[in-house]
Amino acid sequence: MPLEQEVREVFAQGGVLSHAADHFRERDGQTQMALAVARTIEQGGVLVVEAGTGVGKTFSYLVPALLSGERVLLSTATKTLQDQLFGRDLPRLVTALGLPVRTALLKGRASYLCLHRLDQARHDASLPERGSLRTLAKIEQWSKATRTGDLAELPGLDERSPLIPLVTSTRDNCLGAQCPQFKPCHVNLARREAMAADVVVINHHLFFADLAVRESGMAELLPSVRVVVFDEAHQLNETGVQFLGLQLGTGQALDFGRDLLAAGLQQARGLVDWQELVGGVERAARELRLAVGKQWPGAKLRWAGDAPEGIPAAAWQQSLEALHRAFEQAAQGLDTVSELSPDFVRLHDRAQQLSQRAQRFADACAEGSVRWVDVGTQLRLVESPLDIAEAVRTRVLKLDAQEPEAQGRAWIFTSATLGDDPRLRWFTEPCGLEGAEVLRVHSPFDYAAQAALYVPRAFPKPNDPAHSQQVALLAARGAATLGGRTLVLTTTLRALRTIGDAMKAQFERLEVGLRPDVLVQGELPKRVLMDRFREGAIAGSAGCVLVASASFWEGFDAPGDALQLVVIDKLPFPPPNDPLVEARSQRLEAQGRSAFGDYSLPEAAVSLKQGAGRLIRRESDRGVLVICDTRLVAMGYGKRLLAALPPMRRIEGEAQLEAEIAALNDARD
Ligand code: SF4
Repeated sequence: MPLEQEVREVFAQGGVLSHAADHFRERDGQTQMALAVARTIEQGGVLVVEAGTGVGKTFSYLVPALLSGERVLLSTATKTLQDQLFGRDLPRLVTALGLPVRTALLKGRASYLCLHRLDQARHDASLPERGSLRTLAKIEQWSKATRTGDLAELPGLDERSPLIPLVTSTRDNCLGAQCPQFKPCHVNLARREAMAADVVVINHHLFFADLAVRESGMAELLPSVRVVVFDEAHQLNETGVQFLGLQLGTGQALDFGRDLLAAGLQQARGLVDWQELVGGVERAARELRLAVGKQWPGAKLRWAGDAPEGIPAAAWQQSLEALHRAFEQAAQGLDTVSELSPDFVRLHDRAQQLSQRAQRFADACAEGSVRWVDVGTQLRLVESPLDIAEAVRTRVLKLDAQEPEAQGRAWIFTSATLGDDPRLRWFTEPCGLEGAEVLRVHSPFDYAAQAALYVPRAFPKPNDPAHSQQVALLAARGAATLGGRTLVLTTTLRALRTIGDAMKAQFERLEVGLRPDVLVQGELPKRVLMDRFREGAIAGSAGCVLVASASFWEGFDAPGDALQLVVIDKLPFPPPNDPLVEARSQRLEAQGRSAFGDYSLPEAAVSLKQGAGRLIRRESDRGVLVICDTRLVAMGYGKRLLAALPPMRRIEGEAQLEAEIAALNDARD
């Protein structure tokens, strides 16, 4: 039977899915997307699908991919989504379809316990802190039982624990075939399983990391795969540029020095003056940091010429040269002992690589790339391509290449938000996919009935110092009526703190027991914040308010009545003084295009769409969205941004806003 027909039958009322899932209903959008995916699989080519919230896009690509009988690679944005796909959606569907499909999960090596380094950590007298000993004991215990070695399976392990780098490997310190634990190694096992599976679930980081350094086994995997699906594809460009560029950090230099000293003293004491070599690397890294002087923490220094802005070129170049020399000397020292241990071979490669990078940064920036320096306690030198278009065309799709296996492959890119125009240019241009077939499947939700949008006409301007206070007041009034259930999304960390503090102060005036808890991003780990918010009112609190920025605009999901009010402080334009944003804008202007119309505005539209998308997650959800930025109604471009939002009904004036919020509250009681 042709694949399209099989797919149609699976999704039809009375088909396999309606028997397997109680709540399954045939949805036109879902079937439409699934049929388009099936066609692409049969014919090969590139399909880009924007599938609004509630379409059920995961099943739309999984069903045809599984039914095709082809070898499939699925990539999603984060490890959490990877676990969800592999642990929940995929097995559910494989069972429902009754297919004999072998599936595998493959993450980056940093996700797996390294048995060799665990051995070393046991004998390491200088563990970072006392709590580490307890964590180490826990990991040791778990290591005896785990089959996969995936640290995500270890309950209660804080992913920020300083112990994790000591019990996981990097490409630099893995001993490979020389390792005494090579056979039971979890990283190798995961790769072997991936090679043998029909469906492999990876993440975008792994995909691009492998494209950059060909290390994780993907290079062997891809040629045998016929169908590749990127879910959450809106993150591809930003993830890709991180890996396809060049980076050198003073922290990396210090890590190298630490590993060099440990290996040297343990395995070749007295043969080389290790202290001297390591001292040289540390001094050079410190000098480079000092060359930058005092800066705001988190500052990004543009670097268009010989040195970053405000730094004397001669001093900067001298420091870079000193760092280059220190790595060279370390490499020479290691060369003399490389027969003694595989550790020295790895360290030697690492020293050479670091020295080459220092040299690259002393030379001019590559054409089509942009450079800057991230300043923190350490420095990070970055050279980044402006987008991934070239890499996708020539190294991923390879549609023009003479490689037989690249031809006929099906590429599916999907997400709930991929742009604000019919060609989805926000996504396709930077990803080099302008020639792709594009499909937009709208959300099945009845937004006009389920949600209302309020944009105040009289409100402090976004740059007015009183703006954040007014946002806090408005959000606090709504949250007090609703008993929390409010998410405030801010565009800056400063606004996040101001609004968080102001809302707490507002609620102080309420009687104890009527005060919602104010959760502010950064005060607790993200996962804890999300769980606490979804819990809502617990003993002693009157619900929850979450004030958040950055990743919460797109990565937060609170279905049901846990969330009924979303307040956005300002239009999320990209920060104009960010070196990457600036370089992208300049390139557009040089091409005679408009940096605002072709870049800033679509960026803001996509972010706004994502932020607004937090409100309605199910057909039964009801809620109000408030955007506290009068530019949306006062400026001409506001119309384009409003058009990007789901078609919610509009609220005119504060009185109506209060009435809507009160009605939401009443409907729940
Ligand atoms: S092969 Fe590499 S990752 Fe595996 S146990 Fe050895 S050092 Fe660790």
